[in-house]
Amino acid sequence: MSAQVHVLASGSTGNATYVALGGAKVLVDAGISARRIQKGLESIGVAVSELDAVVLTHEHRDHVLGLGTLTRRHGVPVYARPAAWQAMKGKDKMEASCCRELPERLHIGGVDIHTFPISHDAADPVGFNFFHHDVKCSVATDLGFATETVVRALAYSDILVLEANHDVNMLEGGSYPWHLKQRILSNRGHLSNDAAAWLLAKLPKKKQTEVFLAHLSQENNRPQLALETVETILRSQSVGDEENNIRLLLTYPDQMTSL
Ligand SMILES: [Zn+2]
Ligand SMILES: [Zn+2]
Repeated sequence: MSAQVHVLASGSTGNATYVALGGAKVLVDAGISARRIQKGLESIGVAVSELDAVVLTHEHRDHVLGLGTLTRRHGVPVYARPAAWQAMKGKDKMEASCCRELPERLHIGGVDIHTFPISHDAADPVGFNFFHHDVKCSVATDLGFATETVVRALAYSDILVLEANHDVNMLEGGSYPWHLKQRILSNRGHLSNDAAAWLLAKLPKKKQTEVFLAHLSQENNRPQLALETVETILRSQSVGDEENNIRLLLTYPDQMTSL
């Protein structure tokens, strides 16, 4: 098995995605308790002590909650952009020697990990590409819109974890206060189901792509709705034939895929 991606948790209550590729076992974000991370990894036969690193997309609470325990008790190195470290709350609860600067390119266990900038209301937020031989896995959540840079970064991924945060109608008609709706809908907020679908439709792709729809809002989305919205738009754009097939996976409840 050359690539395995397991979304341990996804959404505004916490995010953590396990990526095993080549000789690297990496967690993208740790926004749930270390205990939940440990349990989630154990369910797929992985011990926390096997983790090479946590790489952080940004400093929001739903991405960093478990870092204190993961660093203090398990000594897992954590890589975040310098600005994210500066803006992060609760850094004093982490083991200082585990806190490292995330460069634009990182090399772990024969795997190249590249960052790319995303548009979100955080300090220097990023998405990730993992490369090993001809396999490419990508993670892009928490983005207000997909810039050309993001599209280029996600192109030709084998496995892609992509945000489908909300249904615009549910959000607009929902109970969130106006300022929060504006934040989510803004260019530095979150990607809607529609926007995720159009991104997938225009993305240069391999023959087969596994796509996790991620960071679904519990309040302003439904798993089935996200799936149907994306499927409908992809079908209307003739995506899904043998030449560029996409398999959509939901991260709620947890799912896993491997190549
Ligand atoms: Zn965020
Ligand atoms: Zn988030």
